[in-house]
Amino acid sequence: MTKDMPKTMGQQFGRRSWAEPWKIKMVEPIRMIPRERREQALIAAGFNTFLLKSEDVYIDLLTDSGTGAMSDRQWAGLMMGDEAYAGSRNFYNLENAVQTYYGYKHIVPTHQGRGAEHLLSQAAIRKGQFIPGNMYFTTTRLHQELAGGIFADVVIDEAYDTQNPHPFKGNVDLGKLEALIKDKGAENIAYVSLAGTVNMAGGQPVSMANVKAVRALCAKYGIRLFLDATRMAENAFFIQEREEGYAEKSVAQILKEFCGYTDGAWMSAKKDNLVNIGGWLAVNDPALFEELRNLVVVYEGLHTYGGLAGRDLEAMAIGIAECVQDDHIRSRIGQVRYLGELLADWGVPITRPVGGHAVFLDAAAFYPHLPQIQFPSQTLAAELYLDSGIRSMERGIASAGRDPKTGDHYYPRLELTRLTIPRRVYTQAHMDVVAEAVKAVYDARSSTRGLKMVFEPKYLRFFQARFERL
Ligand SMILES: *Cc1c(COP(=O)(O)O)cnc(C)c1O
Repeated sequence: MTKDMPKTMGQQFGRRSWAEPWKIKMVEPIRMIPRERREQALIAAGFNTFLLKSEDVYIDLLTDSGTGAMSDRQWAGLMMGDEAYAGSRNFYNLENAVQTYYGYKHIVPTHQGRGAEHLLSQAAIRKGQFIPGNMYFTTTRLHQELAGGIFADVVIDEAYDTQNPHPFKGNVDLGKLEALIKDKGAENIAYVSLAGTVNMAGGQPVSMANVKAVRALCAKYGIRLFLDATRMAENAFFIQEREEGYAEKSVAQILKEFCGYTDGAWMSAKKDNLVNIGGWLAVNDPALFEELRNLVVVYEGLHTYGGLAGRDLEAMAIGIAECVQDDHIRSRIGQVRYLGELLADWGVPITRPVGGHAVFLDAAAFYPHLPQIQFPSQTLAAELYLDSGIRSMERGIASAGRDPKTGDHYYPRLELTRLTIPRRVYTQAHMDVVAEAVKAVYDARSSTRGLKMVFEPKYLRFFQARFERL
C-alpha cells in the first residue's frame, strides 16, 4: 500500500538540490543577547518560553502559528481590504478559495482556529457525548470538553513510538474506533474528530486509505466526520510522497480528494494558509451551517467577517491559493526535514519520521534521569534558550493539563520539545545554527536539573504556567 520511505531529500528529488521558490524582498534584523541577560530573562519568564519577550529571542521556533512571512501578493491584498461591516468583497474571495481548494459548500470565518473549534463544539456536541479523535490537540479537546463532550483517543499505537518509521503515524485505529462506537452506542458519538497532520504526534500524516476507511465506518453507523484542516496541505504532500497512486497527483488535487471524505473542517489559517491571524469553519450540511452562522454572530462577529478585518480575509484567500502549490510545500517540508536529518545524523533523539511543521526532540530520551513530574520537555526548552537564545515549546506533561474528572495530571506518553519552523522566514544557515545549539544542550544533558511548577493557570496551563529550577 505504501512506498518505501525516502531517506533524504536528495534521494527523493534526484541528485540536485532544491531551493525555496521565492527570494527575499524585506528583512527584519535579529540578534542574540548575552548569556547573562538570557539567564535573567528566563528566570523572569518562570522558565516558560511562552512568557519570554520576543525581543530577547534570537531564532524563534516557538510555533508556526501566525509567524509565517506573507508574500508580496498577500501584502498587496491587504490594500484591497473592503472594510464594509457586511458583505465585504474579501469574504466572497475567501469563500471562493475555500470552495475551490478544500471543496466544502458553506464557510464561516473566525478570528482563528479555536474560534472555529468553539462554534463547532457548541453546535455539534451534546453533554456526555464522546468525540473520538486521532490524538488530542490542546485547544480542540478543551472546546470539546467545555461543550460537555468526552474526548477518546483512537490514533494507532505507532503514533506513541517516536522511533517507529510508520509512514502514516496519524492514522485512526479502526479497531479502536469501532470498539468505542459499539461500547458507547452510535447515538453517543458526537462526531469523529480527524486531524491531518497530527500536531501532538510530531506532525505525522493520515493516509488517504485511512480517511476512506474512517468515512466508510462513520457511514455505517451514521456518524459525522469533521476534519481539523490546519495542516492538511502538508498532510497532502506526505500522501503524494508516500502513498501508492498519488505520486502524479498535485498537492491541491490530493487535498480536495481528502476533504471530500469529510463533512466539514475547521481551520487555523495561521498555519497552512500563510496569514498572521485568521481561521474558518466550513461544512456541507445546510442545517448545521445555519446554526453556525447564527452562533458566529454571538462569539466572533457577523458571518461575513467573523472577527477579522476585510484585509485579513483577503490575505487569507490569497494564502490558500499559495499554500497548495507543490513547490511551496516541498520547500517548506524540505527545510523541516533538513534540520531533522542534521540532528538525527548527530545521534540526537528526535521523533521519526520527521513531520511536517516541526522537529520534535525526545526530551524523555535526553533526560532519562528526570521523572515526568520534573517536566523534562519544559527543561529542555529552557536549556535551549539559555544556550543560544533559541525559543522552542514544551509538548509534554505541562501541555497535557489535568483530567477534569480526577483533577490529576494527564501523564502523556510523549515528552517532546518542539522546534517549530515558521513558513518562509528562516534560511538554511539558521537551521545549521539551531542544530548546533541542540547538539550543545544534548552534550550537557547528564548534568541538567529538572523543574517544578510554582504557578498553574486553570485552562491551557502551558501558556502561562511558571516554573523554578530544582
Ligand atoms: C493551532 C492549532 C489549532 C488552534 O488554532 P488557533 O489558530 O491557534 O486558535 C487547532 N488545531 C491544530 C492542529 C492546531 O495546530
